[in-house]
This record gives sequence, structure tokens and C-alpha cells, in this order.
Amino acid sequence: MDCIFCDIINKSASAEVLFENEKVISFLDIRPINYGHTLVITKNHFDNFLLVPDDELSELIRVTKVMSNAIIKGLNSEGFNIVANTGRAAGQSIFHFHFHIIPRFRNDNFSFKPNLKSYDNGSMKEFAEKIKMAL
Ligand SMILES: [Zn+2]
Repeated sequence: MDCIFCDIINKSASAEVLFENEKVISFLDIRPINYGHTLVITKNHFDNFLLVPDDELSELIRVTKVMSNAIIKGLNSEGFNIVANTGRAAGQSIFHFHFHIIPRFRNDNFSFKPNLKSYDNGSMKEFAEKIKMAL
């Protein structure tokens, strides 16, 4: 299976690695939204968020927090977004699950530009019921 992130883990592809332990590795995104845009991934390959076992996800989010702190301190970032795209419809392009940490600055010209919807009469409850029934 071809996976650029597995290649980075195996050191057959290069990356600007920021942190690494037994389970998790973090490196700079080569196409940053803002400079310092960081990725955090498990060393085991999982296609998406839903497939990552809880213990590995727990370590992944712990390291994501550590990296976020380092971005704030190291880059004087005023904030950050943690993003995880899951599925092609959500813009996932590399199918080895990863968190993005995007350093943010006032007036950095980046926006998710949401087109916010409104719920029609009663439809909010319908959506809530569909989700709750699936729990
Ligand atoms: Zn992989």
C-alpha cells in the first residue's frame, strides 16, 4: 500500500520532524495554510478517525495538545485550529489519519467561510433524534 505518511514513519520519505515517540510522530505540513502548520499522526496506519483504537487516539490527542502548546510558545501564535478531515467529502486527501494544527494570527487571511444554515420548524429535534438513535 502506498502511503506517504507511512514512508515518513519508515524514513523512506523525508519530513521536518518535530516530535516522535513510540506511537506518534509530528512533522510540518509541506503545504502550510500558515507557517508552522503541523501534522500529528499515529505510527500505525489507520485510514480515518473512526478506525483509530481508543488508546492510540488518546496518545494522539495528548501529543496534539503538547504540539499546540509548542506552536503557541514557539511561534507566538495567537490561536490555532485543530482540524481532522474524514472522508473525501470532508476534504481528506491522505488516508492515514492525521490531526492538523494550524497556527492562527489575527488578519492571517484564512477563513473556513461557513455558510450557516437555520433549522426549519421542528427539524432540529429530528436531526437530534437521528443522531441519538445511532448512539
Ligand atoms: Zn500510512
